[in-house]
Amino acid sequence: MRRFTILLAAALLVCSCACNNQVKLPVTRTFDCDVLVIGGGPAGIGSAVCAARHGAKTILAERGGYLGGMATNGLVAPFMSSTTPDGNTLLIRGFYEELVDRMIAQGGAIHPLKAEIGSFSAYRDKGHHGLTTFDFECLKRTTEQMCKEAGVELLYHALFIKADTKGGKIKAAYFATKAGIWKVTAKNYIDCTGDGDVAAQAGAPFIYGDGEGGVQATSLFIVLRNIDWKAMDAHNEACKKAGDFEGQFYMREILAAREAGEFPMWRQKIALFQNLDGTATVNMTQTDDVDGLDPKQVTEAEITGREQADYVVKFLRKYVKGCENCELAQSAENLGVRETRRIVGEYTVTTEDAKNSVRYPDPVFCCANHMDIHRKGYVEYVARNTNDPYWFPYRALLPQKVDNLLCAGRCAAAERPVMAAIRVIPPCFAMGQAAGTAAALAVREGVGPKQLDPALLVSTLKEDGVYLPE
Ligand SMILES: Cc1cc2nc3c(=O)[nH]c(=O)nc-3n(C[C@H](O)[C@H](O)[C@H](O)COP(=O)(O)OP(=O)(O)OC[C@H]3O[C@@H](n4cnc5c(N)ncnc54)[C@H](O)[C@@H]3O)c2cc1C
Repeated sequence: MRRFTILLAAALLVCSCACNNQVKLPVTRTFDCDVLVIGGGPAGIGSAVCAARHGAKTILAERGGYLGGMATNGLVAPFMSSTTPDGNTLLIRGFYEELVDRMIAQGGAIHPLKAEIGSFSAYRDKGHHGLTTFDFECLKRTTEQMCKEAGVELLYHALFIKADTKGGKIKAAYFATKAGIWKVTAKNYIDCTGDGDVAAQAGAPFIYGDGEGGVQATSLFIVLRNIDWKAMDAHNEACKKAGDFEGQFYMREILAAREAGEFPMWRQKIALFQNLDGTATVNMTQTDDVDGLDPKQVTEAEITGREQADYVVKFLRKYVKGCENCELAQSAENLGVRETRRIVGEYTVTTEDAKNSVRYPDPVFCCANHMDIHRKGYVEYVARNTNDPYWFPYRALLPQKVDNLLCAGRCAAAERPVMAAIRVIPPCFAMGQAAGTAAALAVREGVGPKQLDPALLVSTLKEDGVYLPE
């Protein structure tokens, strides 16, 4: 009889769960800290290390098994420009420059002020000054070392799935792990998931893509080996001398191959980035209209990306001098998703602000990256009215409606064209440095992030090497 009752109760539980489409699971482990950073990409690394350095007990939770975000699990390289448009002045300094210097010391990066246009810039000249070529493994190792030294507790293999929010404050974050559901409580939370997962869960307002359901194209990066760079450089130089832009990027060959059914992608140019070890990171696959928040669509795009990678290799072997013997070394673990959610911030950086280098009372970094939107079949560039750097204010890290949350990286508050520019890796590190520093200072001062004195944040960032010229 007892057995029957238990079975009936279990059946009813399963039935009610199934009927409501709800699963209730016990919390198997709990953690507490001052600052919880969710997402271990460039923004999350900067956030966690800087929060810990400013005295906060910090946890960094990441769904994968290493740090770097798209810069490692997406094989995205090199770090895009971190300088003025002429390539002469480093704009993203502070934590980013320190990281790069540490990697250089290990032979794992080239300083952006020393990057030669043409050799490390995918055969592009325009708008690609000051790139940082780096080694993926060196980035993983160095960022882990920096976290360790600062006292950051790393929680890998922890997928954020839920926030408990009450009265405009996050009370706890929940993670799906192999060991059940883990709960982390914190004073301040920093969403560095790229997708604004925490902000969305916590009820903060956000915009998805273009606001009408459209998003930029996705791409799966690949790495190739066996490339003859001398031959590629010779072709590049010859085309540059002849003023043959289309030739430089093999645009005519791509058209011919597409007509012959050998290039079923929208890409118009080759895009090869030379790595330190002589391999090339290649950004030439493309899938359109993919919702990066839908695992089913992402799965399909990753499969398509790997099919396209095969076409890319065959195309390069047949048409591109120096790539005759190239081979696929690996494809990325994760699809490159350019765009999903951006929060609506206490301030949202506008395109006009960036075009005109508008100043703010609470600047946390400046940059000069160009605004480019990857559309189906072409890339749209948004022109600026000045070559001066443009600015990013602290308030654009603060989502509306949730008090103890900051959002750094690809999900911060900027209009679409601006985010299309500042989502590259160096500004994401800078956003992270600002968010982590602010979250820790707020804990120290006993105030919420929204009440933090911006003057204190700005002066602290300057002391920590952030470039904020008057
Ligand atoms: C196709 C493409 C090409 C690009 N090319 C370049 C380039 O050449 N140079 C350049 O500088 N930038 C480039 N970028 C931009 C750059 O890679 C990203 O915009 C940048 O990495 C964003 O940094 P982030 O820290 O905001 O997010 P990410 O790098 O995406 O990191 C987010 C981290 O959060 C983790 N995460 C996500 N959700 C959860 C969750 N729910 N729970 C736990 N962890 C989670 C992820 O695993 C990841 O580690 C490119 C991007 C794309 C898509």
